[in-house]
Amino acid sequence: MRLTFLGTGTSTGVPTLTCQCRVCTSSDVRDQRTRPSLMIEHDGRVVLIDTTPDFRQQALRERVSRLDAVIFTHGHADHVLGLDDTRVFYFKQQVPLVVCASEATLVTLRQVFSYIFDQTYKFGGLGKLEPRRIDGPFDLWGVRFTPVPVLHGDLPVLGFRFGKAAYVTDFSTIPESSLVLLEGLEVLVLDALRHKPHPTHSNLEQSLALVERLKPRQALFTHIAHDLGHEETNATLPAHVRLAYDGLSVEV
Ligand SMILES: [Zn+2]
Ligand SMILES: [Zn+2]
Ligand SMILES: [Zn+2]
Repeated sequence: MRLTFLGTGTSTGVPTLTCQCRVCTSSDVRDQRTRPSLMIEHDGRVVLIDTTPDFRQQALRERVSRLDAVIFTHGHADHVLGLDDTRVFYFKQQVPLVVCASEATLVTLRQVFSYIFDQTYKFGGLGKLEPRRIDGPFDLWGVRFTPVPVLHGDLPVLGFRFGKAAYVTDFSTIPESSLVLLEGLEVLVLDALRHKPHPTHSNLEQSLALVERLKPRQALFTHIAHDLGHEETNATLPAHVRLAYDGLSVEV
């Protein structure tokens, strides 16, 4: 299974509009972070976690040529607003795109993209979705996805474990019942916004403490704000913990 980080930035993206800080003006391309999303390739199938407002540019950059499913973590704008741009894959593949999400996230998607769900626009050009409600572990083409419930402030969000990898973004608290789902991993992806604490996100220190406890072989941090420069932050981290960057690919 191949994992590719389509985006690793926080909700505003980095560079952040109007900001002239040293990370936003850095010449290191790894300091340029589009909104957070992961591509999972397995057995010829392509599954995304989230479709960000940057999805089109991310797909162009990574030459994504097919798409089979999108799994959503939650309904915030930085995780869902690229859904419309997936319609081109429907035009090409002629199969409705499988969309897996919690009931609450499906409600948000139906509100934001009512024109896709309603299918009443009679002049064509719309994508087609096959919504599936997540209410436990589910399989997509031979890969089992186990939802990992976490809290993002007071909003329930889903992380996902698949095989020996897990992707958990947009959380401030991981309940004990979810931590046990994150043991024995080769690759653990965690939210790590910045150094300063935040009411709805994990910061670098909190995510390092989780890595210490869960002991994955490798940990990669995402949803990164402009407070953290790529190279200088990595220099402070243990060797098996790195900030992810846009375009980073790992085999699991
Ligand atoms: Zn987010
Ligand atoms: Zn900045
Ligand atoms: Zn969020």
